[in-house]
Amino acid sequence: AVGDESIIDYVYKVVVIGDSAVGKTQVLSRFTRNEFCLDSKSTIGVEFQTRTLTIQSKVIKAQIWDTAGQERYRAVTSAYYRGALGAMLLYDITKRDSFDHVARWVEELRAHADNSIVIALIGNKVDLEDKRAVPSEDAVEFAENQGLYFFETSALTGDNVEAAFFKLLEEIYSVVS
Ligand code: GDP
Repeated sequence: AVGDESIIDYVYKVVVIGDSAVGKTQVLSRFTRNEFCLDSKSTIGVEFQTRTLTIQSKVIKAQIWDTAGQERYRAVTSAYYRGALGAMLLYDITKRDSFDHVARWVEELRAHADNSIVIALIGNKVDLEDKRAVPSEDAVEFAENQGLYFFETSALTGDNVEAAFFKLLEEIYSVVS
């Protein structure tokens, strides 16, 4: 059965990055536990969460790392990126700054992560459409130029969170297998 370590075919490390408060912890808990916690940061000290799923008949354990607030001090270390096969790069669609910093995060990935890392650009908090400050087209253009997958999600409603992670994990599978 799923959960039985002995039948796991692959373990994929995925890192979640982006500015502080864009929703990294909440997107992660939506995907791994189908939860949204109003009192955030209950995960302090927890380095990663996992979810086991099946892709093309293979049992894959996604080991998804959270920065645990390190990004606030620009202290995300190369150890964080080591061995990562995928990255979820989040911004907040209501915070223009968080999108303007995405290029810097891509540079950080190119500098510290493996060349073949699969990157998904995620515009989070689409439930706050009335406060949108980043048009989808801007992100689509950036993602196309940089060769990134692009999704808009809401950790609050769960909208597109599964789709984004599944796409990323399927791409990793096609790269490494
Ligand atoms: P992190 O610092 O990037 O890990 O961000 P958090 O996951 O701690 O989220 C920052 C704040 O945004 C918290 O108050 C969350 O409740 C809120 N938040 C996260 N995701 C969403 C979302 O999809 N929609 C809304 N409305 N709020 C969100």
